[in-house]
Amino acid sequence: LSRRLDLPHGNDEVGHLVATLDEMLDRLDRAFQRQRQFTADASHELRTPLAVIRSEAEAALKRPHSPEEYRQALKVIRDQAIWMGNLVAKLLILARSDEQQEKLEREILNLADLVEGVTAEFQGMAEAKGLELVKVIKENVNIYGDQTRLTQLLANLLDNAIKYTPAGKVVVSLERLGKWALLVIKDTGVGIPPEHLPHIFERFYRVNKARSRAEGGFGLGLSICEWIVRAHNGKIEVESSVGQGTAFKVWLPAS
Ligand code: ADP
Repeated sequence: LSRRLDLPHGNDEVGHLVATLDEMLDRLDRAFQRQRQFTADASHELRTPLAVIRSEAEAALKRPHSPEEYRQALKVIRDQAIWMGNLVAKLLILARSDEQQEKLEREILNLADLVEGVTAEFQGMAEAKGLELVKVIKENVNIYGDQTRLTQLLANLLDNAIKYTPAGKVVVSLERLGKWALLVIKDTGVGIPPEHLPHIFERFYRVNKARSRAEGGFGLGLSICEWIVRAHNGKIEVESSVGQGTAFKVWLPAS
């Protein structure tokens, strides 16, 4: 505290109080640090057993002549293990990013290629819902970034856009504006009510819990997106209107 506040010295009582408060703040810092480390360790340790449960269930499902009841139970086990595995993977990224253990592996990247690749992966999901998925690459922009993380960012935003759009289309666009690469993911979906907008990047925040859960969501995707963009010294913004749709804008420094 004495480092944080510029308090007068030479008074024993004040000095003592300052020292005590200082000690308390250090303890709090250490407690928070331990808690973050605990989440990171717990998520990490849960990954292996979950992967084993999943692969054992998958192997057992491949065995011929097993009774239908048994197969149904195995499918539930497999699906729940996949669900939990996804949750644990997301928790691990967030816990590591809090501890600055999650490092970016940067290289010069062609964003047009990245958009091309990720959009292609989501064509099937969009078509299955009768949605049009369009990409508009106004120009290529190179950036110095982490390919895995940026792929995950775009995939999270596209997955949401498709999930929360019952009809119409999803447009992904890329352009360069001055020193920035601008990526926009725009949908014609359900939209987000204005009172929820300030919270959607918070961990576990979901506008409609039942709907998000039914779609397999945890409310962690946008927190991860926010971290990825921040780690790249960029900015993420959202504009939405209920019943009309939502647009996420991602600004990343061009290289
Ligand atoms: P989830 O796993 O629930 O999708 P996210 O962190 O990705 O979690 O998103 C948080 C919440 O923001 C979602 O539950 C949803 O209510 C809202 N949301 C995100 N993207 C969209 C979108 N494109 N259209 C409408 N709502 C969205």
